[in-house]
Amino acid sequence: MTVRTRFAPSPTGYLHLGGARTALYSWAYARHCGGTFILRIEDTDLERSTPEAVQAILDGMQWLGLQHDEGPFYQMQRMPRYREVVAQMLKEGTAYHCYSSPEEVEAMRERARAQGLHPRYDGTWRPEPGKTLPPVPADRQPVVRFKNPAEGEVSWDDLVKGRITISNAELDDLVIARPDGTPTYNFCVAVDDWDMQITHVIRGDDHVNNTPRQINILRAIGATVPQYGHLSMILGPDGQKLSKRHGAVSVMMYPELGYLPEAMLNYLARLGWSHGDDEVFSMQQMADWFDLTHITASAAQFNMEKLAWLNNHYIRAADNARLAQMVKPQMEQAGAQFAHAPALEDVLALMKERCNTTVELGEAAMLFYREPQPPADLLAQHLSEAARAALQDFLAESVTISWDRATISSLIKSLLAKHKMKMPQLAMPLRLLVTGQLQTPTIDAVLELFGRDTVHARIAKAV
Ligand code: GLU
Repeated sequence: MTVRTRFAPSPTGYLHLGGARTALYSWAYARHCGGTFILRIEDTDLERSTPEAVQAILDGMQWLGLQHDEGPFYQMQRMPRYREVVAQMLKEGTAYHCYSSPEEVEAMRERARAQGLHPRYDGTWRPEPGKTLPPVPADRQPVVRFKNPAEGEVSWDDLVKGRITISNAELDDLVIARPDGTPTYNFCVAVDDWDMQITHVIRGDDHVNNTPRQINILRAIGATVPQYGHLSMILGPDGQKLSKRHGAVSVMMYPELGYLPEAMLNYLARLGWSHGDDEVFSMQQMADWFDLTHITASAAQFNMEKLAWLNNHYIRAADNARLAQMVKPQMEQAGAQFAHAPALEDVLALMKERCNTTVELGEAAMLFYREPQPPADLLAQHLSEAARAALQDFLAESVTISWDRATISSLIKSLLAKHKMKMPQLAMPLRLLVTGQLQTPTIDAVLELFGRDTVHARIAKAV
């Protein structure tokens, strides 16, 4: 059997983290098995579906690098096929016309509720052997209902949740086509999973209630029933359903916030699945390792700190040229002057160690690309007489040294000894004069990057 999985989002908003995780698991399982990953856009809800939301899904998938092998298929383009299956089912007697008006159906439900039963359609138009159906009302278009099995139960071994059994008595005769002939949600999903020969349906557990209906329809149309795995919800740190209150829930907010796709993927991979104690792994490893037996059935909790920690890991591992491309527009906007300044890639290599996002990285790197403006009170505090004397020596003695980190460092150390100073007494004024601020990476590395001319000019102005 060739494994075929699908991601089937409804384009009604942005691609949210839960959707992205579903997509990732479906993708990874297909890759793991050498199978096929299909993208299907479930856009039949005309009121809620928008082209922008379709684009947001495609953008999100592309940013994450979750490439589909087939599709995207759009349900709206498959209408003739759904109608064909409805017609076939009517012919075979697995579906029937129902002329009950919406008001009549509501009244049936009310009656059931009053008797303490499941609210449901009472089967008025359901054909049974020997049963006489009511006369067809004039000028009323019928809906088509699925003839759900009246007896027995539907069971499946959920790949995540274990065995789930639902009694058919709980399932209504579902409307599969509306009076104007348009097909309904559960029906389209079943036909698509059949036509696309889906072997494994991995989706959110908000669909568990749909599964018995879809299985019954699949059986009725003679399809092979796929295996199902329903992923538990993602909760916020407070145990409530993940929402905007907890931070960005739209995947495409994350590139703007300075997250790398590999960090997001790694994070989502671990949000409900595990491979021993491994926390950091690549897409390739995910594809190699991903199985359905290590998905957790309990709800996963979103943890922004962990995502930030992973992002820091991937920023440190990232190619500096790539990072430079990412941060440059932001720095230009902030007024960075790139002329006569150190190469951005070298600066990023030095600054990235402590940055959790590329936005932070861009902000940190600004240090090298703007005129320093040391605050007067800090200058007064740090530029002591002793410091001035040591700085003058620094100027004189650093003219001829080789301008590299190690040599600069040993010059600073020898000046500290000569002037009987402690490191901060010289490093702080150096930082202030050269960068305008007190917090920087190690001073020798900073001075090396700025280059001798800039460093000299900035110190000379003050001493
Ligand atoms: N379109 C559904 C959703 O966005 C998913 C359907 C499915 O995976 O079967 O929630």
